[in-house]
Amino acid sequence: MIEKSMEEVLIEHQRQSTDSCLCGWAKLGHSHPAHQAAALAAAGFGPLHVRAPEVRCVDLATGEKVLDEVVASNAMVHLEVMDDNHWWMAITAAGKRVDVNLYTKRAKITAVAEVEP
Ligand SMILES: [Zn+2]
Repeated sequence: MIEKSMEEVLIEHQRQSTDSCLCGWAKLGHSHPAHQAAALAAAGFGPLHVRAPEVRCVDLATGEKVLDEVVASNAMVHLEVMDDNHWWMAITAAGKRVDVNLYTKRAKITAVAEVEP
């Protein structure tokens, strides 16, 4: 669980002088940024794994190619109702954006979303 903000952790671990950190850490010949990175990791801020959205399709027996899934990590998602039978979603990660359109020609799309505890 993250109890401090990233800014608070970095403030606690500012370089106090050319040879030590505010927390007292001082190891001659060791990297202060590496010490700060370790402090961030200890506070729950791990390295972010960013993966651009990937569109995966499957080939049907008819030879038609259809959307199977869109996968990304650490992405920004924007999902929006466009009409009764049309939802649009943008997935952006690592500077790449994928637009996904969910629609049906005959019925209204019903969607449910729940926030996982
Ligand atoms: Zn420190």
